[in-house]
Amino acid sequence: MDILASLSAENHNGQIKIISPKGILPPPQLDWRDQPEKDFQWPKITSASEMIQVMNKAMRAKDWLDREGQERFEQLRKGISPVWRSLSDQDQMRLKKHIGWLWQLLRYRAAPQTVAAQKDLSEQGQLSLIKGRVKAITACHKPETDHKITVQLTDGQVIDAHHGFIATGAGRDPLLTQMGSDGVARLKHGHLDVSELLQITRPDGSIHKDGFALGPPTVMSRGDVIGATTIAGEAALIADAIIDHVKDVGLG
Ligand SMILES: Cc1cc2nc3c(=O)[nH]c(=O)nc-3n(C[C@H](O)[C@H](O)[C@H](O)COP(=O)(O)OP(=O)(O)OC[C@H]3O[C@@H](n4cnc5c(N)ncnc54)[C@H](O)[C@@H]3O)c2cc1C
Repeated sequence: MDILASLSAENHNGQIKIISPKGILPPPQLDWRDQPEKDFQWPKITSASEMIQVMNKAMRAKDWLDREGQERFEQLRKGISPVWRSLSDQDQMRLKKHIGWLWQLLRYRAAPQTVAAQKDLSEQGQLSLIKGRVKAITACHKPETDHKITVQLTDGQVIDAHHGFIATGAGRDPLLTQMGSDGVARLKHGHLDVSELLQITRPDGSIHKDGFALGPPTVMSRGDVIGATTIAGEAALIADAIIDHVKDVGLG
């Protein structure tokens, strides 16, 4: 989202493809207010399904773009810890599996300016959102288009690009392991080794000029990645590098 904001601010006019497992981007953070008098009073919960029913009822409108919806979500979150702890391990795992992704999406709402950039780029026909998971990324050279990167998805789709950036978050991602065993990237303790400009390093130590990574996958090179503000700074760095490269080689 931060890279979109930076590219849009620089009037980037190329095509951008985002690949994401659920094909959904986060909602914008709205001007919701904490109102302690409206804190949700959790009933006693005995199972994962009961918890989902209670949350569904409490949320009423499911519109994430609604200020009141975000308020209700935050009211639910406040008292959730004792309820979560009262559930069995199996029920906790069921919740994580079925609604964990949605909870994270609603919880980590995006900065409004990034959502505005996403909307502008979509309206200008420059942005496509592809539902899928990346399985492998390889370097390619296609003289007819000057594409340098090939991205393979688990469903068999293949996408070529001039530049690519990896923003796969925390956790052990099989994609990084695959890039290591394909000889595309040098790994540092399971994470990507990147240059100061966040370019991915090859096993021989040379750098991919067109392939970048940011956020938690770079933590072993960066020493620390302190959440959203660091990542926003990294995103601007990558967007600038792409814009400069596009100007240098005249991609338009
Ligand atoms: C409990 C907790 C609390 C936190 N609190 C804060 C806080 O208060 N403030 C703060 O600034 N930071 C906080 N952080 C850190 C912050 O959440 C992360 O640093 C930030 O979310 C990372 O952003 P990201 O966009 O790089 O990755 P993410 O937000 O993790 O997004 C990565 C995305 O990539 C997708 N993905 C993964 N693999 C693939 C693949 N192979 N193909 C396609 N898509 C893939 C994932 O499904 C996910 O949607 C917290 C983190 C945790 C765990």
